[in-house]
Amino acid sequence: MILDEAVSALDKSVEAQVLNLLVDLKTRFDLTYVFISHDLNVVRFISDRVMVMYLGKLVEIGPVDLIYRDPQHPYTQALLSAMPSMDPRRRTLKAPLSGDPPNPVNPPSGCRFRTRCPFAERVCETVQPALLASPGEKAHAVACHMRVPGSGHTRATTAVSA
Ligand code: SF4
Repeated sequence: MILDEAVSALDKSVEAQVLNLLVDLKTRFDLTYVFISHDLNVVRFISDRVMVMYLGKLVEIGPVDLIYRDPQHPYTQALLSAMPSMDPRRRTLKAPLSGDPPNPVNPPSGCRFRTRCPFAERVCETVQPALLASPGEKAHAVACHMRVPGSGHTRATTAVSA
């Protein structure tokens, strides 16, 4: 079942009821949801696996706990660092991303995230990074040249298996 921003227009008390109902229905009827949302707290609550997309491309996918505990793609890291927190010690003081998303009709060459990525280098401009599984964690995959030894990126040090 595809649920596209299914709770985004609801106030918080109704949202909680609908989310609990969805979890209940999922368990009772053994359903699978593709749940599309920009609310990262909702995504964390409802998901088993998370798929992060930027400008129509998949940049990271993995088990929900792993993605939230140890995000590897710079875009995922920026998204999670911008999550609101009730803890005053965890205030976001610096914008995690600058600039506007490019036009998806005419996306940047190479890595689509390169115009906003703080780690972008020349290789990012010319070569589109492949989505590769993490070492020791086949269910987790990332599309970034920094994760591929020999990619030409100066930070490419982590061993990755295809
Ligand atoms: S491939 Fe390059 S531009 Fe893209 S996320 Fe990785 S470092 Fe940033």
